[in-house]
Amino acid sequence: AKEAGRNGYRFFTAEMHNGYTRMLALENGLRQAIDRQQLSLVYQPQYSLGEHRLLGFEALLRWRHPELGPVSPAEFIPIAEKNGFIVSLGDWVLDTALRQLADWRAQALPPVTLGINISAAQLRQHPLCDRVRLLLQETGVPAEALELELTESVMLDHPQRALAIMDQLHELGVKLALDDFGTGYSSLSYLKRFRLARLKIDQSFVRDLLLDDEDRAIVGAIISLARNLGLGTIAEGVESPEQAQMLHHMGCEQAQGYHLGRPMAAEQATLLLQAAVVC
Ligand code: C2E
Ligand code: CA
Ligand code: CA
Ligand code: CA
Repeated sequence: AKEAGRNGYRFFTAEMHNGYTRMLALENGLRQAIDRQQLSLVYQPQYSLGEHRLLGFEALLRWRHPELGPVSPAEFIPIAEKNGFIVSLGDWVLDTALRQLADWRAQALPPVTLGINISAAQLRQHPLCDRVRLLLQETGVPAEALELELTESVMLDHPQRALAIMDQLHELGVKLALDDFGTGYSSLSYLKRFRLARLKIDQSFVRDLLLDDEDRAIVGAIISLARNLGLGTIAEGVESPEQAQMLHHMGCEQAQGYHLGRPMAAEQATLLLQAAVVC
């Protein structure tokens, strides 16, 4: 028992040391990531269920650290949120995504929407709406082509503040989506007060959709709630044709996921859009 304890202890400190060193490396690395051009966006296609039309993309951030290699946004976004660097990262994402959208429009490709993830800190300490307005003017992208994805926790962070900013964005014509819907803590009354265009059904409910009656009941409830409130629906994490078919059958409008398309570099997304013109 003593032996195991000692091993356990040693293992624990090693883990802690590595974890802490890595965290510091990431935190320091993030500060230079933009200038050193280590960031990129990938684009995951979104399709209508049914006629299977390409309607949009979600922009997802990627970071290649010079020594550590690719780092998941699930790891570095929380760090950036904690040290406030998310505001610069968020600006970079908005800027890059809108320029990409403008580029596609200039090539007369089919019009698509682009979803962009917004963090609480961007809503908290930043004139997000001014920034978005300016970027739309600069790029000539119509506001409706932009969809900002917010989570329930983002909206609950400072509800009054969030509500005011969301109203401004809505007036600009920008679409708002509630991300990871069903996993947060917001009361349903928020759905009425926040000016949302659609709900994104979280992938945790989609994963076992065909096996789990409860997940199916929850997804069904979300779809009918959305319909009754006049909101659109998109399911994320769709990995099989069976899931897509079930979601379509249940009345979900759109989907994204590995079955339909992985997040891809801008060049691949452009090819996908060009192919969509032909058919
Ligand atoms: P999210 O907004 O919920 O994004 C969906 C995540 O699911 C993405 O992970 C995507 O690559 C992944 N995914 C897509 N299809 C499937 C599928 O069929 N199966 C499975 N298992 N996963 C799928 P990713 O790219 O690693 O991003 C993780 C999270 O990091 C995002 O979750 C989002 O919360 C955050 N994030 C990513 N980019 C940004 C950004 O530009 N700004 C902010 N604030 N957050 C971002
Ligand atoms: Ca998202
Ligand atoms: Ca999501
Ligand atoms: Ca998620």
